[in-house]
Amino acid sequence: MSVIFITVLGVLSGAPRENKQQEGKWLKIYLIIKKMHAIGLKMKKFQRRTEDFVCEKCGRKVQGNGYTDHCSKCLWSKHVDINPGDRRASCKGMMEPVGIRKKGEKYIILYNCLNCGIRHRVTKAEEDDFEAIIMTSKKNF
Ligand SMILES: [Zn+2]
Ligand SMILES: [Zn+2]
Repeated sequence: MSVIFITVLGVLSGAPRENKQQEGKWLKIYLIIKKMHAIGLKMKKFQRRTEDFVCEKCGRKVQGNGYTDHCSKCLWSKHVDINPGDRRASCKGMMEPVGIRKKGEKYIILYNCLNCGIRHRVTKAEEDDFEAIIMTSKKNF
């Protein structure tokens, strides 16, 4: 009789402990999935696209390297992205380079969309024309 009692007690006290372990396991899996989802969202915000385009301002054929979003000769850009690389903006207005800012070792090109007036900034690309950078920096508004 007492053996049965002890067995029942053991099962009763053992069961919750096992449940807690199970819960911990599921919580870990849940957190991993949540983390992966967050990383996925971050990657979605920056889509790499390799595409060549002809500059609508100066006619230069610009070779895209996946991050190219402006003309390397005249620096003009086009309002096509909401987040970098997504090409989801419906504006499609020409974006004028209106100034240069220095940020550490990097140069940031400031843009103003002529169609909707949105302000935008991108990091200067290595192949960007230096003369154009100087000219733009003189515009600093
Ligand atoms: Zn151009
Ligand atoms: Zn625009």
